[in-house]
Amino acid sequence: EQGSVTDVDVVVIGGGQAGLAAGYYLRRAGHRFVILDDQPIAGGAWPHTWPSLRLFSPAEFAALPGWPMPPWPDGFPPASHVVDYFTAYEERYDLPIERPVRVAGVDRGGQHLAVTTNRGIWRARRVISATGTWQQPFWPLYPGAREFTGRQLHTVDYRRASDFAGARVVIVGGGNSAAQLVAEISSVAATTWVTTRPPRFLADDVDGRVLFQVASERAAAIAAGKPDPGGPASLGDIVMVPEVHEARDRGVLQALPMFDRLTRDGVAWGDLEQHADVIVWATGFRPALAHLRPLRLREHDGTIAVSGTKALKEPRLHLLGYGDWTGPGSATILGVGRTAKAAVAELDLD
Ligand code: FAD
Repeated sequence: EQGSVTDVDVVVIGGGQAGLAAGYYLRRAGHRFVILDDQPIAGGAWPHTWPSLRLFSPAEFAALPGWPMPPWPDGFPPASHVVDYFTAYEERYDLPIERPVRVAGVDRGGQHLAVTTNRGIWRARRVISATGTWQQPFWPLYPGAREFTGRQLHTVDYRRASDFAGARVVIVGGGNSAAQLVAEISSVAATTWVTTRPPRFLADDVDGRVLFQVASERAAAIAAGKPDPGGPASLGDIVMVPEVHEARDRGVLQALPMFDRLTRDGVAWGDLEQHADVIVWATGFRPALAHLRPLRLREHDGTIAVSGTKALKEPRLHLLGYGDWTGPGSATILGVGRTAKAAVAELDLD
């Protein structure tokens, strides 16, 4: 296998939700394609999230194209239900997924793009990159980071609150992950929540569905050539899932401004120091794009310029599922279907 070369119309890199949605439309269009995924099982990032994580909307609002997620009877579905759904979805549509296959790089060949992996080379007329963000945790650097003698971890390493029982824990970050970690950890430990800007909470009586609705309205406006209306709610806004709601009732959801440095024993704002045993960085993710480096597409700000999902400087390449810059709501299970459909329609293979 090591030296093998396979020709296809399309290589999809990544077998998470974005890769599966692309696979659905590629299958329907009758293209010869393969999905290369470096994980041993289905699910993309979902098997790696903390086990208690639940979606922020009911199952019917987490549908991939063609076949909705089976209902979850007890509130919002847990991450394991998402993994089961994706596993069944791959089988149902008989998607050609090769795993584990790790893509090392994408290069320009003459008529094709060469996708180099640990299991041979695939030559493709088009490449859809759908590698997500989970492998690129963002960890901001603050003064004193090396002096701090306690434990530091990122959301990607978090498993369960009981690991921090009795500790003093500082949680950094203003999004849904941070709010959910504050809610969980504060039930067994003393927590301090810090954010760089005041957190934005959605109203109590709405859930993640309102975010999907805003994303749909933005996508419709953009498709109609109208200006992007933005929206009152964004995917970063905090959904008042029951655990977060309950944490607010306990009074633990008071966010302090960001500290300005770490100390040996904790964190500090000017002269004011606070002891901490643990610092949890729930500071988000960046797109995992290292495999595209050989194409030299990165702009000065670290992004890749796209029109829709198509890379402006390499029109044989599409970027799918990374966030609003590759389509409104495209980093969600429901939202990526719409973007995947448009991307496959624009492959221009005939
Ligand atoms: P991923 O799921 O990360 O899949 C990418 C795949 O590509 C992975 O299998 C990865 O291992 C593989 N890969 C990466 N690099 C390579 C390479 N070089 N070669 C081969 N394979 C590679 N969305 C919702 O819709 N509802 C929610 O309630 C919700 N809650 C969330 C809560 C949290 C805490 C987080 C972090 C996200 C949440 N999301 C939610 C957002 C979204 O569903 C995820 O970010 C999603 O995992 C993105 O899917 P993806 O397919 O783009 O990437």
